[in-house]
Formats: sequence, structure tokens, C-alpha cells
Amino acid sequence: MVQTPVRVRFAPSPTGPLHIGGVRTALYNYLFARQHGGKMIFRIEDTDSTRFVPGAEEYIIESFKWLGIKFDEGVGIGGDFGPYRQSERRDIYKKYVDQLLQNGSAYLAFDTPDELNAKRAEVPNFQYDASTRMEMRNSLTLPKDEVQDLVSSGAQYVVRFKIEPGREVHVRDLIRGDVVVNSSVLDDKVLYKSVDQLPTYHLANIVDDHLMQVSHVIRGEEWLPSAPLHVLLYEAFGWQDTMPAFAHLPLLLKPDGKGKLSKRDGDKLGFPVFPLEWHDPQSGAISSGYRESGYLPEAVINFLALLGWNPGSDQELFTMQQLVELFDLSRCSKSGARFDFMKGWWFNREYLLQKTDEQLAPDFVELLKANGVTAEPSRAAQVIGMMKQKVVEYTDGQSGQTKKRNISFISDLWPLCDFFFIAPQEFDAEDKFIRKNWKETTATEMTQLAEQLEKVENFSIEGMKAVIDPWVEQTGLRPWNAWRICLVGKGQGPDMYELAAFLGKEETLSRMRHAIDTLK
Ligand code: GLU
Repeated sequence: MVQTPVRVRFAPSPTGPLHIGGVRTALYNYLFARQHGGKMIFRIEDTDSTRFVPGAEEYIIESFKWLGIKFDEGVGIGGDFGPYRQSERRDIYKKYVDQLLQNGSAYLAFDTPDELNAKRAEVPNFQYDASTRMEMRNSLTLPKDEVQDLVSSGAQYVVRFKIEPGREVHVRDLIRGDVVVNSSVLDDKVLYKSVDQLPTYHLANIVDDHLMQVSHVIRGEEWLPSAPLHVLLYEAFGWQDTMPAFAHLPLLLKPDGKGKLSKRDGDKLGFPVFPLEWHDPQSGAISSGYRESGYLPEAVINFLALLGWNPGSDQELFTMQQLVELFDLSRCSKSGARFDFMKGWWFNREYLLQKTDEQLAPDFVELLKANGVTAEPSRAAQVIGMMKQKVVEYTDGQSGQTKKRNISFISDLWPLCDFFFIAPQEFDAEDKFIRKNWKETTATEMTQLAEQLEKVENFSIEGMKAVIDPWVEQTGLRPWNAWRICLVGKGQGPDMYELAAFLGKEETLSRMRHAIDTLK
């Protein structure tokens, strides 16, 4: 039984571009909320001002717009539980910090960074907890009036959570089951800092989840170690009855499955780890994005949906609506999901092929324009139709070898299709195909072929066939490869009649004349 009403949240910290793992987290929250007729909240966790990166929030919003993941409440949308940006909720948190101080769940600590460092040097594996807190300078060890004096004189302090040792803490996780941790391993986490009068992530996160009536916390595995502390915080506030259910999603692993996926893997193997291209405001460095790399948002969604969840069948292609219907947290794996970026290519190809050539044409027209070619969308569509089943070469990032794969992106088309729009000027004397197929007699044969083509009035595939096929039959010539050299300049391209019909009579004959003159 799912606790209702379902209210989930995606709560990124605006510390840079959204990682693809974060996109998957948001997607799973979205699918879960939609399936249960619930709400999805977009909250910005920006209490750590030192890590704030300008533009990150806008980037995150734009990413979800592109992907078609819609929020119901939150930053930029509004709702009854706002403000949804944590830096605008200072006063709210102060009240809850005081509550913990008053009920004895937290205390003030005055230890300076130097004092803490000295202690760390003295005690191996020092941890601020029940075993050490009585040796430190805090409101548990200092006389009451000294604490008061320190606070009123403006001394800086932090508020720490007082964790009772030796307790079993249960995190009830919808994916992992009952995760039990002994509280003795936890440290007295800082919940609040007087210096900026802001809570830390842990406190703000719990207070907001409570106030925003979050029913399910679905987030990445990297937050699992914080979960016992969060459970204890709910208890310290007396909110255990409305504590959200947890679901910690499996880690995204490197393509070879060895370790956590990182940006470096993407750079090395040639795939983006961010939804959109990111321009780092500090260094100016540009990181590639799925959108700019030519992925379709539906393909990215489908690809990510299956990284950590499976439908229990062999089906691989799902619309967002189907995902909403089928998604199931109990079918999410505990173990990491290997980030098979080549599967991402496959998905993109599947979604490209679902579109008509006319639907794909505008993007191809843009690509052509970027390469200095102006083309009508209808011409672009024709080329897509002739070429989309071809393969393209790519450099394998692991081995450095040149390999082949199916066309998976519109951008794959350019190096394969330039000759449709630009007549070959030079012919590479070293090219194997040309050496093999252009013999001494070839120029003469091509001249004869040109004469035959000259006679064709209706320069369509059928029109040409009607004249050329009988001529080929009669002469016994095999003109195709040489004709290809004339029109393409190399051993590539579609069926020759198709290509000639696309080029038209004038262009076809002019290319042939040029090749005959040049190659002789
Ligand atoms: N602000 C955290 C993040 O950046 C949120 C973690 C959570 O969902 O609790 O991912």
C-alpha cells in the first residue's frame, strides 16, 4: 500500500549542472507521482552559499523543460508550501533549531577550526560524538552562564545534533528493505551555523520534507548514509508518524561496471553526462549535453528509465505514459546500474526512425546550414530517406579504433551526405575504390553512359531504368561503380538511380563530364 496523498520532491543544490544521475532521480519521482495521482515539488537546496553557482538553477529548470518532466509546485511555479528556495526560509529553520535545543536533542558547540584540528591530530579517526563531545567546548561541558556570555558577545558557534549511542536505527527503504545502523557510528552532525545563520543540508531537508508534507523521499544511493541521521531527526522533532518512506535508487556505474560513473568517463568514451551543454561560469569550460549532442528527449527518458528499473518483460521502448503506468519502485534494483552509453545510441536511433523523414528534415536543414549548404526541407527529407539505414564510422574512446555503428543522430548524416549537395571536385588517386573501378576504358564507357542518359526525358528512377537497363544488357558493361565515382567521388552512397534522380539530369551529366575530364 502506498502512503497517500503522494507528494514527492526533487531537491537539487544549485552547485553546477545537473548530473544525468540527478535527471534519473527526478524522472523516477515524476513517474511515481503521476502514477499515484500525486504532486511533485521542485525545491532548491541552497543553504551552502559557498557552493552556489550562478546559472545552475536556470539550467536545471531548462533541462526538465526539454525532457518533458513537469513539476506541480516549487521554485518558478509556486504553491501552498512556499517559498521553495531554502535560502528564503531562514526564519522557519531558526524556530526548529530552537526546538531541538530546548528539548535537549541538540547543543551549541564553540570549538574553533584550530581546536578541532588539534583534536583531530591528537585522536586518530576523531569523530565528534558521544565518546568525545564531553572533551570539547560546548554547551554540554561549559557552565550555563559562560555559554550565555559567549553567545551574547557574538562568539561563533554551531548547533550539533546530540546522537545517543548504542541504538539501532531503522531506515525503512522501499528498494532496500530494512536498513539497520547502530547510532554509535554516527557523528554529532552540524545542523546550523551562527556565522551565516543558516541550517545545513540535513536540518533544512528534514524540516522542509515535513512542512511540505512529503510522503516519499526517492533519491540517489549517495544519500543512504545520511538516512539514519534523518530518521533520528524526525524522532527528535516528534514527527516519526509522518516520516516519509525512503527509496534510495541504485548508483549509476561506469560503462564497464567498475565504479561510479563520472564526468571523466563521458569525456574519455565520448558521451555527455549532463542533459544540456554547460558553460562553466568560472573556468569558461564547456561540457557537452544530451540535447546539443542530438539526442531526442524521449530517447533520453526511455534510456534513463531502464537504468535501475526493469518492467519485468523484454519490452524496451516505452512512452512516458507507459512508464507512468508501469513504473514500480519494488522493481528497482539495489545494485548499481551500468551506464551503457551505446544503448543510449540505440534508443536514439529507435526514436529517430519513429519519425518521418519530413519530421527529421528541419534538424538536417540546420546541420546542412552549419556546413555551408542551403537546402529545401523536402530535399533534405529525400536524402534522409535514402541514407538513414546506413552505418557511420566512429572512434571508439576505449581502444582508439575506428568502428562502425548504425546512424543514431542527425549529425551522423553530414559526413555521409555531403556529396548530395556538393559535387566532387577532386578524386583521390590513392582511394582503393577509385583505383579498382576506374580503368583505361572507363572514361569512354562513362561517355557512352552519359550519351544514353542524355536521351532520358523523364529523369526519374523509372525513366532512367527504361533506357539504361537495356543498354547495360546489350553492351554487357558494368557501369555502376564508375558511375558512382563520377557522382559521389568515392565508394559510398545510395542506389545510383536514386542518386541521379535526386541530382537531376543537368547536375548528373555535369558531374560525369567533370569526372571524365579529371580522371581520363
Ligand atoms: N540537495 C540534495 C541534492 O543535491 C538533496 C538530497 C535529497 O534528496 O535529500 O541532491
